[in-house]
Amino acid sequence: MDCLFCKMVNRDIEPDIVYEDDHVLAFNDINPQAPTHILIIPKKHIATLNDIEEGDLALVGRLQYTAARLARDLGFAEDGYRVVMNCNDHGGQSVYHVHMHLMGGRRFTWPAG
Ligand code: 5GP
Ligand code: ZN
Repeated sequence: MDCLFCKMVNRDIEPDIVYEDDHVLAFNDINPQAPTHILIIPKKHIATLNDIEEGDLALVGRLQYTAARLARDLGFAEDGYRVVMNCNDHGGQSVYHVHMHLMGGRRFTWPAG
């Protein structure tokens, strides 16, 4: 399968890893939009949020849990941070392997653009 993030899971491409376990991989975004901008992905290929099934619920929870723990470990949990998952064209998704953006280290505005 020609999927950029699966290639990172398989180490055909070496990401700048910040966290890994049996189910998820977290690495620095190549084009950071904040002082910290990490992508957290399931190792299992799931193309979009629309493709999540009931059997994936623990995995999705693990993405969120990983984001919160990284925010704590990196020291910006109390100040706050932004977590984003983009879905399909209108959501601004560009890589079709589900990923959670964890951004911290600055103040974010709302609503998102
Ligand atoms: P999306 O737009 O799909 O929500 O987010 C995709 C993210 O992947 C973008 O923030 C983009 O900068 C990041 N990205 C794209 N290609 C690469 C890459 O080769 N390496 C890394 N580390 N991030 C990438
Ligand atoms: Zn994939």
